Amino acid sequence: MSALKNSRQTTNLPAAQPWTPLDRPSTPPLGLLLFDIDGVIRDVAGSYRRALQSTVEHYSGWRPDPACIDALKGEGSWNNDWDASLELLRRHQAKDPGVSFSLPEREALVDVFSGFYFGSDPEGDPSAWDGYICDEPLLVSPTFFSDLSARGLRWGFVSGAEPPSARFLLANRLGLHEAPLIAMGDAPDKPDPSGLLRMASSLLGQPFSAASPTVAYLGDTVADVQTVIQARSQCPDQRFVSLAVAPPHLQSPDQKAARDDYEQRLREAGADVILPETRAALDWAATLG
Ligand SMILES: [Mg+2]
Repeated sequence: MSALKNSRQTTNLPAAQPWTPLDRPSTPPLGLLLFDIDGVIRDVAGSYRRALQSTVEHYSGWRPDPACIDALKGEGSWNNDWDASLELLRRHQAKDPGVSFSLPEREALVDVFSGFYFGSDPEGDPSAWDGYICDEPLLVSPTFFSDLSARGLRWGFVSGAEPPSARFLLANRLGLHEAPLIAMGDAPDKPDPSGLLRMASSLLGQPFSAASPTVAYLGDTVADVQTVIQARSQCPDQRFVSLAVAPPHLQSPDQKAARDDYEQRLREAGADVILPETRAALDWAATLG
């Protein structure tokens, strides 16, 4: 097991203490907007998703295509890409018992995955990473977040990405050095709403109630939508909104049919609003008042 996965707990949200940003007003926010990261803030088609494909191919010789990965993720319970890789290997083997490979141990698979994703030295200096992580187009500009703040929203990130990867994106790529973040290992995996609730509670600075500002979460998978639904059922008085967006690999015109299907699945899972792209969250924010 790579030490990277277990040794770093990077949440900056102590459970018992509200998070009080230095550069934001102490007045109550107009709303909270929490973000998933992969597929929402950065395009991971050429990185995490490619590492998933390469890992499955490494063991089986079979490279799952993007539609195959989307179908698996559409089931709602394969948010973790290591487990998704293992599950695709399992299903590939079950479908054709004649294929000759043995299922790897999860820890060995994680190391293979990390080699593809981070590169030759996953635990080294992030500036020296040479894996697929170097190819992650941003889906928003840094001013997107200052625009949200200017509109009276507070924001943060609840992601299943590995902490070093999420931190690298936020600090090195977006210049958000103190961004509130809950990443893999900081809370149970989505769709368990614990991480979302903890982040929302810290940023609200007041108890959940019908009178508290709206809490919205923007994600790109069925698991993200289910996280909001579960948060709502645990705190029924609080207003939670599920915003959803199709991931960037479905946003090109030639993917329209696949995108329509994908968005329909998000709606059926309970998404309140489907956004055309992440930046449109600013338009949604404008509807808050
Ligand atoms: Mg995502």
